[in-house]
Amino acid sequence: MKFIGAHVSAAGGVENAPINAHKIGANAFALFTKSQRQWKAKPLTDTQISAFKSNCTEFGFSADQILPHDSYLINLGHPESEGIEKSVTAFIDELQRCHQLGLKLLNFHPGSHLKKIDEASCLSRIANSINRSLDQTEGVVAVIENTAGQGTNLGFRFEQLADIIEQVEDKSRVGICIDTCHTFAAGYDLSTPEGCEETFAEFNRLVGFEFLRGMHLNGSRKELGSHVDRHATLRDDGFLGTAVFEHIMQSSHFDNIPMVLETPEPENWADEISWLRTLQNS
Ligand SMILES: [Zn+2]
Ligand SMILES: [Zn+2]
Repeated sequence: MKFIGAHVSAAGGVENAPINAHKIGANAFALFTKSQRQWKAKPLTDTQISAFKSNCTEFGFSADQILPHDSYLINLGHPESEGIEKSVTAFIDELQRCHQLGLKLLNFHPGSHLKKIDEASCLSRIANSINRSLDQTEGVVAVIENTAGQGTNLGFRFEQLADIIEQVEDKSRVGICIDTCHTFAAGYDLSTPEGCEETFAEFNRLVGFEFLRGMHLNGSRKELGSHVDRHATLRDDGFLGTAVFEHIMQSSHFDNIPMVLETPEPENWADEISWLRTLQNS
């Protein structure tokens, strides 16, 4: 079965996210469990936690189809120890918040070398940060998102994702989220059916579909290989086209994982979700 939703607002409290997801006809969703632009947040209250859980039950969302995203400030590959410590502390807090909410996944961007260390050392620092964070928490899988490779962000090649996973000790608690915009901007041509076949076969060879725990479904406002992360709507603008969405909707490799829109026009999400569903057996 396909689980499709969007990164919905949790304004007013995390318990509103499942309500917002239900309103757009989603059967999956993403959310921030705290403000994505701040280091610290108030702890979740028992009232919020139970309201979140009961709203998820009421609208039929299970933890397997909910893909929370961490704060953009966190850099698990930070070249300096102060930056690493701050990031690991914040990441552990994010993992704990997910666990409190009964969630099983936490999606994050791997990290950036900031031109101060080489790629290989940055990838090792990311893996080490993941290991430390997993050691101090339970239950939640760290889901690494592939990036467009903008600036000094790593994780834009499947080899880099494989390198991080290789160094994570508990393989049962690490996964991958593929963002269609980032993949295309990173240089993988998802604009044709053949390009999709090749790209996902390469992903399977280097990383393996067994690690795929979620998808971000976005168009791309920038060209193939631009290394610029600008999401477009699925059908109306951008360079990616729709072949990749047909591929995904018709392939069983993408069954039973949350697939989440982060497209620029939230008022179109309901429409984009129902359009994706029409691709299933066409
Ligand atoms: Zn994304
Ligand atoms: Zn993006």
